[in-house]
Amino acid sequence: MLSLFMRFLHLFLFSVSFIFISFASPVWAYKVVASIPPVASLVRAIAGEYGSVDILVDHSTSPHMYALKPSDLRKIGAADILFWIGPAYEAFLVKALENHAQKSVALMKAPHLRLYPLRFSDEHDHAGCHDCASISSSLPSPSSLSLDGHIWLDPDNGMQMAQEIAARLTILDPDHRQDYERRLQKLKERLEYVKMEIQATLQPYENQGFLVFHDGYQYFEKAFHLKAGQAMTLIPDVAPSAKRLSALKRLIQKRNVQCLFAESQFPSRLVKMLSEETKIKVGMLDPVGTPDLSYEDLLFSLMKSFSACLKEKS
Ligand SMILES: [Zn+2]
Repeated sequence: MLSLFMRFLHLFLFSVSFIFISFASPVWAYKVVASIPPVASLVRAIAGEYGSVDILVDHSTSPHMYALKPSDLRKIGAADILFWIGPAYEAFLVKALENHAQKSVALMKAPHLRLYPLRFSDEHDHAGCHDCASISSSLPSPSSLSLDGHIWLDPDNGMQMAQEIAARLTILDPDHRQDYERRLQKLKERLEYVKMEIQATLQPYENQGFLVFHDGYQYFEKAFHLKAGQAMTLIPDVAPSAKRLSALKRLIQKRNVQCLFAESQFPSRLVKMLSEETKIKVGMLDPVGTPDLSYEDLLFSLMKSFSACLKEKS
């Protein structure tokens, strides 16, 4: 009798937990593919538990050097929606997305973005950059895509990108419109705080000269009034010539460059060589961050890198 009662009790508990789990989990979680970690962070901030997010280019490779793998193509095929920056940044995606135009969203086309042309290109007027002409003469010819794609490094752009993501997710999943609006508003509040903090922290270093590994930071520099960083290479996978190296050394001396920034996605031989010869401080910058980093923390980590290296002469 007792064992019969226990069996009923088990059955009852099992049914209750099954009903509870069914109600607790979302019925449908759509699949999102994000090209790079900062795009994924913005998507996660809006989509929350309603969508699962897969990233194509993880932290170990630079998007400038990325080539799609068969597993990426499978992810793209299975996605309900895909967010990327656009052809100016992820050239490797252009062909793969030809057949997925319906579900892919190029965030560089979002309204109200602040967009800058590539620097050190034919379009660049060299104003205030007297050494640029000699440096750029040793570079490969500029890309026909003349806009700089590192748009997320300006927090105002980050907000516009999030707005576009929220609008697209609302079309995909209208039942959760209010959640997306609420999360967008919260992100906006957090970003206002992030902007104020970074501005206050970097304000003392506005006039410090620095060198970056590749010209990926003008959105951050302009958002926070940093002196334009001179880039060591225009296209990160092309090694600079001897002529350009000596131009960089002259620049370091002439413009009182305080700091030389390396990047984890690129080989550091060039940075090591320059810092040994010129004895300037070396810092580390990461424009994309790790996949688990929030968008706000990515901006904060750049702030910390800049302030640590620009703080004072070594
Ligand atoms: Zn870049």
